[in-house]
Amino acid sequence: MYWNKDMETLSKEKLRELQLERLKRIVRYAYERVPYYRKNFDAIGLKPEDIKTLEDIRYIPFTSKADLREVYPFGMFAVPMSEIMEIHSSSGTTGKPVVMGYTKADLEVWKEVMARSLVMMGVTKEDIIQIAYGYGLFTGGLGFHYGALAVGATIVPASAGNTRRQIELMQDFGTTVLCCTPSYALYLAEYAQDEMGIDPSSLKLKAGSFGAEMWTEEMRKEIEKRFGLKAYNVYGLTEIIGPGVAHECQLQKGLHLQEDHFYPEIIDPETGEVLPEGQKGELVLTTLTKEGVPMLRFRTRDITAFIPGECACGRTFIRIERITGRSDDMIKVRGVMLFPYQIEKAILEVQGVEPHYQIILTRPHHLDEIEVQVEVSKEVFSDEVKSLEALRKKLEKRIEEAVGIRVKVTLVEPKSLPRSEGKAKRVIDKRGLN
Ligand SMILES: [Zn+2]
Repeated sequence: MYWNKDMETLSKEKLRELQLERLKRIVRYAYERVPYYRKNFDAIGLKPEDIKTLEDIRYIPFTSKADLREVYPFGMFAVPMSEIMEIHSSSGTTGKPVVMGYTKADLEVWKEVMARSLVMMGVTKEDIIQIAYGYGLFTGGLGFHYGALAVGATIVPASAGNTRRQIELMQDFGTTVLCCTPSYALYLAEYAQDEMGIDPSSLKLKAGSFGAEMWTEEMRKEIEKRFGLKAYNVYGLTEIIGPGVAHECQLQKGLHLQEDHFYPEIIDPETGEVLPEGQKGELVLTTLTKEGVPMLRFRTRDITAFIPGECACGRTFIRIERITGRSDDMIKVRGVMLFPYQIEKAILEVQGVEPHYQIILTRPHHLDEIEVQVEVSKEVFSDEVKSLEALRKKLEKRIEEAVGIRVKVTLVEPKSLPRSEGKAKRVIDKRGLN
């Protein structure tokens, strides 16, 4: 099932032709309209007409999040404000927010890629889709909304939060598709079970689109088991368009990246070199059609790899692996780089714990220490102290094997860690405080 079969199954050859034509156009457009790009091009003597092949994209300087913050709020806009129909913005929790403006055509592209994404996971007009991503400046809620409008599914625009109400809506309306962050999905399942006495697998959910934060295959299995649904990965970011940059098809073997609108590269985050297919690195994206705020070689800081070969679903768009971390999430402890992803994976491989954890970094005697607090399951919590200690040791061993350094595991009571209605806060870094 496709939303736009001609495009989604376009031959590689035709796709490259289309990408090149669009790349040349967007480069000229950005150079002529955005002083930031013109300045960068001029500084190295690059002209739009120097881009003759897709490989020539490598001559174009990268654009970083820091660059976007410097021109806050509208410095990257390529059109007058009268052409901008909608504004979205990042939360700005780690600095000045990044502001993006969408023209009418940009909103059409967003709708198109989100409609393709929903159809990719099997959504039809018969579905009742509950959008529990936040509506607002955050792109999650409205992105899904536009896609679902195009598909013609029945939208329940629940937005994030109000957990009891979310479950009542699912139950009363017969919601079949859930869209939210994976950590919120887990919280919803737990809340239904423990606070309302509703078995989450008795709900009518058949599929869910989960993203906006890092999650693992193990977490996917957990969500699928609890709700009895198929959990799909969605990928996107405000700087590029919001959700809809890439989505998994029903084979769940990587995310198809919408290559007619976004041109992807994978680079070595240290050297900036483009890496060969299959190698893991940082995803860099160029918007091929965006009018409001064109992005040339935007460094996403997300770590992934291209999956070689064709997908059995028939789509020709390249697949990327699930994001295994954002370089911002990377924790440097005693000189070792690690990702919360590795810790989550290790935890969920051990029986008797809940998929709720927090990583706490301290520096008590000028030496980094890492503590992982993990919730134990209700059954295990009532066990003897001896078996809890054995579980704790087992977790420490598994995590140490996964990340290569010793960590301290603390088992905590069921439901004692904070739950999130949006993106979960996994890492608490207290090292600057002592
Ligand atoms: Zn596929």
